[in-house]
Amino acid sequence: MAQTSLYVHIPFCKHRCAYCDFNTYAHQESLIPAYVQALIKEIEFVGEQAPPDVSVHTIFFGGGTPSLLSAPQFDSILQAFASAFAFSPNPEISIEANPGATSPEQLAAIRKAGVNRLSFGVQSANAEELKMLEREHSFFDVIEAVTSARKAGFDNLNLDLIYGLPEQSLSSWQTTAKRILDLHPEHISAYALTLEHGTPFGRWANKGLLPLPNPDLAAEMYEWTCDFLEAHGYAHYEISNWARDGKDADGHPWWACQHNLQYWRSLPYLAFGAGAHGYIHETRYSNALRIKTYIERLAGSESPTHHFPLTPATVNHHKQTPEDEMSDYMLNNLRLVQAGVAEADFRLRFERGLLETYPKEIAELIQNGLLEKKISEVNATSEIYRLTKRGRLLGNQVFLRFVE
Ligand code: SF4
Repeated sequence: MAQTSLYVHIPFCKHRCAYCDFNTYAHQESLIPAYVQALIKEIEFVGEQAPPDVSVHTIFFGGGTPSLLSAPQFDSILQAFASAFAFSPNPEISIEANPGATSPEQLAAIRKAGVNRLSFGVQSANAEELKMLEREHSFFDVIEAVTSARKAGFDNLNLDLIYGLPEQSLSSWQTTAKRILDLHPEHISAYALTLEHGTPFGRWANKGLLPLPNPDLAAEMYEWTCDFLEAHGYAHYEISNWARDGKDADGHPWWACQHNLQYWRSLPYLAFGAGAHGYIHETRYSNALRIKTYIERLAGSESPTHHFPLTPATVNHHKQTPEDEMSDYMLNNLRLVQAGVAEADFRLRFERGLLETYPKEIAELIQNGLLEKKISEVNATSEIYRLTKRGRLLGNQVFLRFVE
């Protein structure tokens, strides 16, 4: 079996930002100790039923705000994982953290517990923009957090950014990107703001109370970012992700997020925590969304009565059809702007040719200038199909072609 990844959802935030549609809750921190106990039980249940060939190479604590957990809480979760699963050497263990909500002592203790990658939600270097996004930190907090993380021994930092904000100018975004480079992160993620239904931003925009982001300007920001980061030694490996240059044996940058590469390569991951989604053995599954429901479902069970990878916390699961598998594979792997979809890998996985499966879709996308055919850098006998520069901007149009 391919190496497996573990995703842990920590659905707590001090404050709910107006643009956020993640499964996270404010003012529920008193539930954190019971939640950690439930997580440990879920890990034990899954570990007891896991096939012996499951070997873990990444763990990602996402949220929410995982850094609201204390170092001893991370330690106890990581110990539960170590008892439940076999690990590859040097696994990547990441947590998402909010600048301004982490102390130097906490970062040092988390590093000591085994976490070796931090992803800070920075979003902008502009005070007005941070205020509009309802972020509770300043850019000064970001500088302090990065300095503390380096002192604590973290040599693998991601900084998360958002562009295309209402009324954001190109020069304001350029200033953010330049200030971020001054901090020398190993990895940068930059996503365009999307106005999600059910969020205050979505509602205000519908009522005309929030100026909509300008899509042409957002596209200009994206293209500028691609050129700027590449000129400063960051390899663009996924539509919205860049890592410091230098390539591994698979042709991905050294500092690429190994955990996210697992998703983008359609490889297996197990899910833990409220609302977490998992994928293994061609099965997709997800847990109860609400914190209390998740805790109660696990607290009420004494043994793993469900078949791997399901637990009492699971509320949805389905076996994928071969068509679902191929469609998901295209949607995920096409996000990898350099590696794309390799014909040889597709054939190995699905025992059929890529062109035989999607002849019309691929021909039309190439003709429309959204896909290109190249020779693979890691396997000179394989052709790869990947997004063109135009295709990166119009990714959703490309992906739709592979959805039935
Ligand atoms: S801190 Fe992050 S996860 Fe929490 S509400 Fe804000 S954007 Fe959402």
